[in-house]
Amino acid sequence: MDTNNIIVLGAGESGVGAAVLARMKGHDVFVSDNNRIKEKYKNVLSQFDIEFEEGKHSEKRILKSKEVIKSPGIPDQAPLVRSIAERGIPVISEIEFAARYTAAKLICITGSNGKTTTTLLTHHILKKAGLDVALAGNVGNSFAMEVAHQDHDYFVLEISSFQLDGMYDFKADIAILMNITPDHLDRYDGSFEAYAESKFRIIQNMGKEDAFIFCRDDPEIMKRIRKSSISPRMIPFTLNEIFDGDGAYIKDNNIIINIQSNLQEMTLESLALQGKHNIYNSMAAAVAGKLLDIRKQHIQESLSDFQNIEHRLEHVAVIQGIEFINDSKATNVNSVWYAMENMQNDVIWIAGGIDKGNDYSILLDLVKNKVKGIVCLGKDNKHLQEAFSGSVETIIETRSMDVAVQTALYLGRKGDIVLLSPACASFDLFENFEDRGNQFKESVNKL
Ligand code: ADP
Repeated sequence: MDTNNIIVLGAGESGVGAAVLARMKGHDVFVSDNNRIKEKYKNVLSQFDIEFEEGKHSEKRILKSKEVIKSPGIPDQAPLVRSIAERGIPVISEIEFAARYTAAKLICITGSNGKTTTTLLTHHILKKAGLDVALAGNVGNSFAMEVAHQDHDYFVLEISSFQLDGMYDFKADIAILMNITPDHLDRYDGSFEAYAESKFRIIQNMGKEDAFIFCRDDPEIMKRIRKSSISPRMIPFTLNEIFDGDGAYIKDNNIIINIQSNLQEMTLESLALQGKHNIYNSMAAAVAGKLLDIRKQHIQESLSDFQNIEHRLEHVAVIQGIEFINDSKATNVNSVWYAMENMQNDVIWIAGGIDKGNDYSILLDLVKNKVKGIVCLGKDNKHLQEAFSGSVETIIETRSMDVAVQTALYLGRKGDIVLLSPACASFDLFENFEDRGNQFKESVNKL
């Protein structure tokens, strides 16, 4: 057995998964994390007899390795990662590593927004059709951990741009690209070009027998498609026009999926997930299902009985006639745009957190039309204040969820909506977006 010396940097979900898989495949593996490692992950590492360190990186040892699997949370600019790269040691992502050990068909979903929803929808369709399928990547278990435990015929993978950056030989069988709008630019030296480029790595190595499903309404995607030569079969989806050929579009309030002139129709009302953004998500998942020859009935049923997921435009409660909605997962400006666009009544908007270099201008019109008041919830709300002080009369700063929710209730009137849709990452005041969403729900339920 090949016993390369593998180093795993970062002991979170993906790092620990990669370490376990590496160990099971007979590699000599060492895990290094310069923060504290969560107890549950330490237990897994010990259980598999994997050596690890925390609170530091033993650079000498790391620089002697044959290959490094880097967790997506660690930037390429980190000094250690630079030193590794300078020595010519390959730095790959956990997805790249795991793919070496499975022959499963891979359906891979990326984009700035809608990844998790589309991944879950696609998985739901395949499952209902009785296929041997598992879900992995950014949602659920890491891909490596899944492969370590049990191989499957199909994997539906949610893949972030940070994972894509460490992918070289990986090949998807079906790739879905939802959209490309600014996000995480802090990790790409402020370059939208570099970020968009990274998203397009989803189709690298694909051949004619593979399929690339993409949103035809996204200007950045279309711009790049026009200037590249693309090998896989191209299958667009759009809300804006009717077209011939393979793909998905809307006609008379119906979604039409056309794969090789085999048409499937579904009414928009029958979709479990409502809102314009979810039509895109449902279309993309349905096209993937059709490409895999899944029966119409299974696709139809899956898209209409899918259970909405927490923290994404999740209805929480109605209090004093005011509806509270938890969209904590909206961590960038574009996802807030879709949330806001969806709102039928006046909105009290709770926003803020760690601003990743947001450009709020695309929200200005919607905010002027729909938002009565903004409750800023973050350690530093300057940027948000500056962006909206001319457009909204009331902007209030808060630093805890309880206060934010109480303030929103105070500002609201019967029929209004309180929307937590932060446009920012959560790590200043919360553990992660789930923690932020859960605290929101708790605070609302205490009112
Ligand atoms: P991701 O996994 O890419 O972060 P999610 O499916 O978790 O995406 O959705 C995150 C947020 O983005 C949701 O709260 C919703 O408001 C918004 N959203 C979902 N799908 C889309 C889409 N296709 N386009 C734009 N925004 C979307």
